[in-house]
Amino acid sequence: MTEPAITVRAFFERVRAGQLVAIRCGSCGELAIPPKALCPQCHARAWQTQPLAGDGTIASYTVIRVAPRAHAGEAPYALAVVALKEGVSVLGRIVDIPLEKLAVGLSVRFRPLIAKDLTTSVGFGPA
Ligand SMILES: [Zn+2]
Repeated sequence: MTEPAITVRAFFERVRAGQLVAIRCGSCGELAIPPKALCPQCHARAWQTQPLAGDGTIASYTVIRVAPRAHAGEAPYALAVVALKEGVSVLGRIVDIPLEKLAVGLSVRFRPLIAKDLTTSVGFGPA
């Protein structure tokens, strides 16, 4: 079995270290958020890590008012799908933007979060 170019754990560790990364197919150029085993376009396994600038806009969002146990006490907070300028989208936690100011199309910028669990460490704040 071929190892992915970057595992979920490695992706979130890099996020926590302050770098948002994607993977680019060395065969067809498709850009994706890891992990991916096969390129969805050409089915190659030729991923290469590519840093992202972290600038994007909110494509959709939801306000969490009843949080899972790990985030009890943090609600209400917003999760958003952010469309990055490189053409890929990533799910992140919105910080430092009042919930009533959230809107589809709002510009945001990547911000690493120091979360208890790795998978919620992608943050986005004001651009
Ligand atoms: Zn490809």
